[in-house]
Amino acid sequence: MNLFKRIAYYFDALLDLMYPTVCISCEKKIDEHTELFCLECQHQVRMTELHESMDNEFTAHFPTFDKLISGSAMYYYIKTGRIQKALELLKYKNRPEIGTRLGQYYGNFLHASTIYADVEYIIPVPLHTKRKAQRGYNQSEVFANGLAETMKAQVRSDIIFRRKETQSQTEKNRADRIANMKAIFYCKSNLDLNHRKVLLVDDILTTGATLQSCAETLVLRYPHIKLYMATIAMGN
Ligand SMILES: [Zn+2]
Repeated sequence: MNLFKRIAYYFDALLDLMYPTVCISCEKKIDEHTELFCLECQHQVRMTELHESMDNEFTAHFPTFDKLISGSAMYYYIKTGRIQKALELLKYKNRPEIGTRLGQYYGNFLHASTIYADVEYIIPVPLHTKRKAQRGYNQSEVFANGLAETMKAQVRSDIIFRRKETQSQTEKNRADRIANMKAIFYCKSNLDLNHRKVLLVDDILTTGATLQSCAETLVLRYPHIKLYMATIAMGN
């Protein structure tokens, strides 16, 4: 080993000691920096592979929204499962790097797929400003940042914004939720997204109400936008 290589080697080892790569779910140390999970958790999760088909379980959540070209979730969300644990760390335990790592990882798959290969812009579903200030970051935005790295796309958090804090959504049915969210997002940007391939991203797809509301706002402003969606997880 020459001196330079030796220094690089020790520097890596030192970094690893200071900032070990840990499993995004159980937080055990892992040796392979590019992996997300330890071997044990790896066996408990499965990717959806939905990014390989245009019409799928994901797009089926949006029967009334015909502007969506395609969409995909990285994983299935199972309550009490490993993905739920990772999302809890990301959302409530100040672990934004989990979102970035998930994004970098999934971005490789999306970039290699024919459907998502040439996405130009990635737009995270915005959080209310107050919520973002409390959390310190928008979990969808850190996911978007990771995706953008490996997809060679550009994140734009300066296009769509959230107007006001939503009241508790848990009591409402799907139609009520969509109506309730109609006025929540608004566009404010000089960038023209017409005819551009845009990926709208959120952390999790449940009813699809939030994503649809956000997407409808984009389509209203940019009728010729080429719209796709991606999330970290979806219910099944
Ligand atoms: Zn683990």
